[in-house]
Order: sequence, then C-alpha cells, then structure tokens
Amino acid sequence: MTTRAPAVAAQELLKTYPGGVKALDGMNVSVTAGTVFGLLGPNGAGKSTTVKILTTLARPDSGTVEVAGHDALRHPDRVRRSIGVVSQKSGADPVATGRENLVLQGRLYGQRGAAVGKRADELLERFDLGDAAGRQVKTYSGGMQRRLDVALGLIHRPQVLFLDEPTTGLDPESRGAMWDEIARLAGDEGLTILLTTHYLEEADRLAERIAIVDRGRVVAEGTPDELKGELRGDALQLELRDDPGPVGADLVATALAEFTEVREVTVDGRRLSARSDDGPAAVPHVLAVLEQQGFSVATVTVARPSLDDVYLRYAGRRFSDADAATAGAGTEPATVAGGTR
Ligand code: ADP
Repeated sequence: MTTRAPAVAAQELLKTYPGGVKALDGMNVSVTAGTVFGLLGPNGAGKSTTVKILTTLARPDSGTVEVAGHDALRHPDRVRRSIGVVSQKSGADPVATGRENLVLQGRLYGQRGAAVGKRADELLERFDLGDAAGRQVKTYSGGMQRRLDVALGLIHRPQVLFLDEPTTGLDPESRGAMWDEIARLAGDEGLTILLTTHYLEEADRLAERIAIVDRGRVVAEGTPDELKGELRGDALQLELRDDPGPVGADLVATALAEFTEVREVTVDGRRLSARSDDGPAAVPHVLAVLEQQGFSVATVTVARPSLDDVYLRYAGRRFSDADAATAGAGTEPATVAGGTR
C-alpha cells in the first residue's frame, strides 16, 4: 500500500478569541488525500474555528497549517483556489435561480464562456436540481438549498471540500439523501472531504477517520471501528431513581469498583455508565450491589459500544449533555458573551 500525502495538515493550533475564550488548545488535524475525515464534537468544541483557520478565514495565534500542498498562513490565496467551502449559512442568492447562482460563482472563480454554463448544468444534474434550475432559490426546500450549497462549493473543481455541519437543520429524509451524495462525491471524484458534525451517526456513516474534538483539541482519533473497538465489552447504562449527589456517586462507584465484572464506572447525576465483558450477565449483580447501597434503579440498558461511549470515555461526559450545553460551556466558564453563535 502506498501512503498518500495529507491534503490537510494542521499542527498545534492555538486560538483565543478576544474576551479570553480559548477556542483551540493544541488542535491537530491530518487528512489523507482522497478520504472523508470527520471532526466530531459538541457545540463549542472548536470545530468551526478549526475550519475557519483551514479555509484561511481566520488566523491561529500559533501553529502550522498546510492545505492542498500550500502553506495557508503564507499563501492563503493559493489555498483558496484549491478548496471549496460549504459553510453552515447558505451563500446562495435567494432571488437568483439555482443556475444563475452557479454561473455567478463560476465567474467569480475566473471561469468564462460556455465552460461555466456546462459546469453549472453538470452540477445541477448531479445534485438532482435539473428541474429546479430556473427557479428562484427562495422557492427551494431546505434539502434542495443545501444541495445547491454543495454544488456551489464544487464549481471550480476543488481538491479539498470543507463541509461545516452539512446536514444541520435538514429533515431525516433530506439528511439521508445528503449522506448518499457526500459518500458518492468522495468515491467518484477522489475529492478530499473534511466535514464537521455534532451528529455521531453522521460521522460514523460517512467518515473513514474521525477526530473527536473536545475543548479545542483532539481527544481521540481513528476509524469509527477502531474507536469503538478500543472499548471492549458491552456498555451498561442505568438510570437511578434519585440523584445520588457527589457523596452518593462516590459510594456507588466504589461499591461497583470492588465488583469485578464491571469496569469504567462513571456516575453523572442519575445516570450511571459502566462496561462489562458480558453485560446481560452482569446486570443482576449490579442491581443487587446498588440495592444493598440503598439506590433504586429506574431503567437499565445493555448495548454494544457506540461512538457516544467513545466520547464519554475520552471527554469524560456524555456527548448529548455536552452538546445540549450552550456554546462556550465547554471552555472557560463565564467568559463567553451570549449570542456568539
Ligand atoms: P463548534 O464549531 O465546535 O461549535 P466553535 O469553533 O464555533 O465551536 O467555538 C469554540 C469556542 O469559541 C466556543 O466557546 C465559542 O463560543 C467561541 N467562539 C467562537 N467564535 C467566537 C468569536 N467570534 N468570538 C468569541 N468567541 C467565539
């Protein structure tokens, strides 16, 4: 097997926003050419800041950035010509038609004559927008607008495509269609794709490699299977009827730690997580130990490891909890002004 050069390589990125929010704290990203790479993390983890730096829209306080073979800090113009960017907010003009948007974008990249129309038509077909090509974008559904956004990012045949939260806000059906399209793009065109997402399922489904980002740095990296494979055994999830509080949580963790069939016990409010080589067999014992300590259990589930478990292991909290917290809660508390997102 030949090793391919990385299409994106960023090392030791630091970025602190005015006001003292440390958005990146030693961020490293390396993406092999022709692959799909996912930056997965809850809101506020630093994904967008990383993408802004990789796409030359922001500068890090320190660190190195190379994209498509160019130094992004010294030659941002060269990087810009080699990449496509689909940001969370659509860049399409709502009162122009889909085709007009594409042609205009092509001209902005210096394409001229019949070639630009031909490329626009090709992309409209490919993204299933052929019938809507002459309609104003404001009449498009959310899924259609998102597909047009991706087409706009591809008009100049970039080597690297950045997709920032590509399916946020889409209904499940449009999300599925977008996933198919992204998978096809990577397969057919040898494009390198870096996507950010806070959907575990999206990263699992699309990315060949994933970096789990928490508090401005990568806490774990690998293929989805590698990441899940590191967690041996079944995941036990229990919900206690009452919050044991910090003292009770210690008591529960200690009682279960003495109990050899389970490991990696975490107690977070009423939720208790642990691992076991044989989850179903461990459940009655776990229940008995908790009962002895005076804790009653509301629900129990046993599951194979998921990316959510991987996140809990490396970030020390549940993905859904971190994600539900407001942006900035993952960094220094009380330093974030409201409404930054
Ligand atoms: P993500 O994309 O993972 O949600 P971001 O990169 O947007 O994370 O944000 C990382 C941290 O930096 C958050 O705490 C966020 O509130 C903060 N942040 C992002 N942009 C700005 C900005 N322009 N000014 C100040 N703080 C910011």
